[in-house]
Amino acid sequence: MAGALQQLTDNLLGLLFPDRCIGCRRVGALLCRACAAQLPRYPAQVLLSLPVPVPPYLREVRVVYTYQGALRQAVHALKYEGQRRMALPLGALLTAYLHEQPMPADAIIPVPLHTHRLRQRGFNQSALLGRVLADRTNIPLLTGQLARLRDTPSQVGLNMWQRQTNMHAAFVWRGVAAAPARVVLLDDVLTTGATAHACAEVLHAAGVREVRVLALARSVLSE
Ligand SMILES: [Zn+2]
Repeated sequence: MAGALQQLTDNLLGLLFPDRCIGCRRVGALLCRACAAQLPRYPAQVLLSLPVPVPPYLREVRVVYTYQGALRQAVHALKYEGQRRMALPLGALLTAYLHEQPMPADAIIPVPLHTHRLRQRGFNQSALLGRVLADRTNIPLLTGQLARLRDTPSQVGLNMWQRQTNMHAAFVWRGVAAAPARVVLLDDVLTTGATAHACAEVLHAAGVREVRVLALARSVLSE
């Protein structure tokens, strides 16, 4: 019943406030095809500040888009303005990327939020993206097993060593069943890679053999 009511409310709101593209404001979609096609891909040559040597279980870190323009606005709307529906076009972009450049995976695990943050925001944006991706790729989504113990303070202004320390013991594995062998760790916006690395460490300790990080976006200059 709650679902039907929600659907009705959404339909009414859709009539009153039709979807507009976050990029060009044209009516019809939250992110139109033309704007989606113009999103700048993240330049592969930009390296992340991961520890050296990168641990063997952390197989790769991929970033799809540069965090700017319409993509930045879309992520902002999703994360800070509570526009959950924005997860659909963004999840579709991730799906298209994975079809183009597949990653072997037995499960998709979104980077978890701390419960405080989750309560504050009401949802985990990476989990919403993961839901869309999982539905469209048939790779199972695992949530609630990798948990965030500490809401780590901002990484801005910290050097690499400080970032790693900041992240230390921030995550824990709470899975009861055996951990999947190959995981795609999904993040919305990657900054330094320190969070992804801390998650990968915990996943590996839980029995995951291969961790591949997939992030929707990253600022080219975020260091
Ligand atoms: Zn547009």
